Amino acid sequence: MRPLQNFIAGHVVPARSGAVLEDIAPATGKTFATIPRSGPEDVDAAVHAALAALPGWVRTPVNARAELLETIAGLLESRLEVFAEAESLDAGKPLGLARSLDIPRAIQNLRHFAREVRLRGEESFAMAGAVNLVQRAPVGVCALITPWNLPLYLLTWKLAPCLAMGNTAVAKPSELTPLTATMLAELFLEAGAPAGIFNLVHGLGPEVGQALVAHPDVKAVSFTGGTASGRIVAATAAPAFKKLSLELGGKNPTLVFADCDLERTVKGVARAAFENTGQICLCGSRILVERSIHDRFLEAFLEEAKTWTCDDPADPTTKVGALISAAHRGKVEGYLKLAVEEGGTIRCGGTRPSLPGDLAEGFFLEPAVITGLSASCRTATEEIFGPVVTIHPFDTEEAAVAMANGTPYGLAASVWTSDLDRAHRVAKALESGLVWVNTWLLRDLRVPFGGVKESGVGREGGRWSLEFFSEAKTVTLKLE
Ligand code: NDP
Repeated sequence: MRPLQNFIAGHVVPARSGAVLEDIAPATGKTFATIPRSGPEDVDAAVHAALAALPGWVRTPVNARAELLETIAGLLESRLEVFAEAESLDAGKPLGLARSLDIPRAIQNLRHFAREVRLRGEESFAMAGAVNLVQRAPVGVCALITPWNLPLYLLTWKLAPCLAMGNTAVAKPSELTPLTATMLAELFLEAGAPAGIFNLVHGLGPEVGQALVAHPDVKAVSFTGGTASGRIVAATAAPAFKKLSLELGGKNPTLVFADCDLERTVKGVARAAFENTGQICLCGSRILVERSIHDRFLEAFLEEAKTWTCDDPADPTTKVGALISAAHRGKVEGYLKLAVEEGGTIRCGGTRPSLPGDLAEGFFLEPAVITGLSASCRTATEEIFGPVVTIHPFDTEEAAVAMANGTPYGLAASVWTSDLDRAHRVAKALESGLVWVNTWLLRDLRVPFGGVKESGVGREGGRWSLEFFSEAKTVTLKLE
């Protein structure tokens, strides 16, 4: 049993109460580590450590801050395999995915924001007899709260720009996936990072997360998680006028037009549906298909879906791993039951596979494809966050857009067509923070990322992250 600990003021420490939580491997259902069940007193210690480190870190030249991020990136790269294995164990995700997506992207996040901050310029506005300099000052101590689906990827996505702009951080990862965040803290120690610039407090959202968001010395909160939790975070942070970035849930539409390249589309749409066992906020789980190709698409898609089978996440060839927890699998199965009650037909999957040995107790569920549902029913409009898609035919472009926009969410969409005019028209009409055309999850870290409607508030990525993690200050110089 591995005892994971908090990281406060450069020290590896347990919760002050001594209480612990179990960390379970989703692929086996077995506990392999414990984490501190921290409370408000641990949050307070971490925030004070971050506050104490702030003046020194603000004074640290930008190039030195960037160098630290690059050093951590280098250390992470040299341990890529160990981190990938840890992420796969902790999240039940395929090792191949952790190796090719999670850990490389975490390295890229650190390097990207090191480069962004080095290259960043400042604006000035000349006027008659004066010049206005627009400077950006750090916000202060920032709370970074992250979910379990892309643990290190999302933590570094926030931590790198936060530190680059001269802030200090207190992070709270999901208690379901605490492992790689703890290992990252070890890299900060190894790199000789100033104590207190990065602090880590493990525990439960309503206990540790809530205390962190509410702490009077926390000036900004960057939160990625579900819409329901985001609402609580927003209500807690708003009365203190904290800066707030919310990256929340999604129910993302995939629009397939008759003029698409069918073979390429089927593969792309299946990846959008089932990557990371459907547990990516950007996954396309509402597939809208032009009626004239609906049957052909469905037949090809069902064939493709059958290649997305569950197996041991530690096997590098596995495409579908385990769901994050028994409770989450129960939730996904609840939606499969609801789909049938709402008149849908499960065309494939939706069952628990029988896997050998320890894997028999894992939280696996074969990817499911459902047809015959109205696009406005609960199964087709609520976030399931698992390997479950619904397929709906449409007759016109207008109808497709109306269906796509018919949920409270607006995070991402993908459009599959060979007609460039249509691609532009549809992209413009979609209520969505991100639209991919003939692709999915193709990311450029310089561009803004975030959702509209109930999918979030604010943007992260590139200069948008640097702006979130800083305050604009105007200095007007009178010229003689
Ligand atoms: P949750 O909202 O349950 O949790 C996210 C994080 O917030 C966890 O660390 C959680 O802690 C913490 N938390 C929960 N309640 C509070 C609270 N009251 N105050 C402060 N922190 C709190 O989401 P999940 O972990 O279940 O992640 C899945 C969700 O994340 C999905 O809805 C998905 O769409 C969304 N997501 C959005 C992304 C985006 O970029 N828009 C990207 C990835 C995921 P604990 O785990 O201990 O409860």
